[in-house]
Amino acid sequence: MTPAPFEYIRAETVEEALAALAEYGDEAAILAGGQSLVPMLAMRLARPAVVIDIGSLAGLDHVARDDRAVSVGALVRHRRMELDAEIARALPVFAEAARFVATPAIRNAGTVGGALALGDPAAEYPAVALALEARLRLASTRGERCVDAADFFIGAMETAAAPDELLIGIEIDAAAPGDGFGFYEIAERRGDYALAGAVIVRRAETGTAGARVRVAIFGAGEVACLAEGAAAILSDAPAPAWDAGLLQAVKDATRDDLRDLALDAFHARLAGVAVARAARQLAEGEPNERRAA
Ligand SMILES: Cc1cc2nc3c(=O)[nH]c(=O)nc-3n(C[C@H](O)[C@H](O)[C@H](O)COP(=O)(O)OP(=O)(O)OC[C@H]3O[C@@H](n4cnc5c(N)ncnc54)[C@H](O)[C@@H]3O)c2cc1C
Repeated sequence: MTPAPFEYIRAETVEEALAALAEYGDEAAILAGGQSLVPMLAMRLARPAVVIDIGSLAGLDHVARDDRAVSVGALVRHRRMELDAEIARALPVFAEAARFVATPAIRNAGTVGGALALGDPAAEYPAVALALEARLRLASTRGERCVDAADFFIGAMETAAAPDELLIGIEIDAAAPGDGFGFYEIAERRGDYALAGAVIVRRAETGTAGARVRVAIFGAGEVACLAEGAAAILSDAPAPAWDAGLLQAVKDATRDDLRDLALDAFHARLAGVAVARAARQLAEGEPNERRAA
């Protein structure tokens, strides 16, 4: 199929993109890497009157770190998230998740901002952003604001961004000594979207032996979500004590957490398995089994 006709605007600067968004609002669609929008246009699932191309705009493709946080521009490609040395050091769970996004060709073009702005419930990054407590930076001609990931993903392909807002980047606290992560994805084939997946981030609490654990689920429901019961169990027990009994309790807690959120009982069960395997990976440093069939 061919797309419905649209006006094409190529933005050379953030300001040009924001001015076009202010003018056309919900009649416009942002084109970043095009890996989701172009198929949607071709299938006429999206019929914007105007397409604002930000793909070659300068200034949103940075990975920068200060002493506390890492800032990632919206136009950073998935492939860079996978391979960048600073991301591997400061946000290793993001580097791991990037390897599960589609195929290398798609990862070369698709962007962090596109994957987050799309809010696909089966995509990896929204769950990574939730687990890492990412702050999403939105800009419009009205100014800039920061939205916590927990408030950003509100439904299937639905986010808290207003029609005139551009996602310009994310900020995430960098990993500190004692922090750890687990990531596990269940998909039919390598490169497919997840049937269910889990991201676990453990942040060591400074000055104590304790840790704060966050568990985020993707693929199993209409929106990426936190599994707070499972996280509470993992926060209360020191990681080496995560034995089979505790992991079973985590699976059960995940199913409870997803009681009203999962697509069905099967997906809730898969999510429980993914959380238990991600937890085992975190506890034992076990190599991730790639995309179990
Ligand atoms: C075969 C196939 C398999 C895939 N598998 C996966 C997978 O396993 N996991 C996964 O996460 N993704 C997967 N994808 C999608 C891919 O990762 C896309 O790159 C990503 O979803 C969107 O990034 P993009 O830069 O291509 O965005 P685009 O396609 O350009 O845009 C996507 C949407 O986000 C909006 N948008 C883009 N950037 C911004 C911004 N900065 N501010 C506001 N709105 C914006 C657009 O208007 C559009 O609605 C797959 C795609 C294909 C074709």
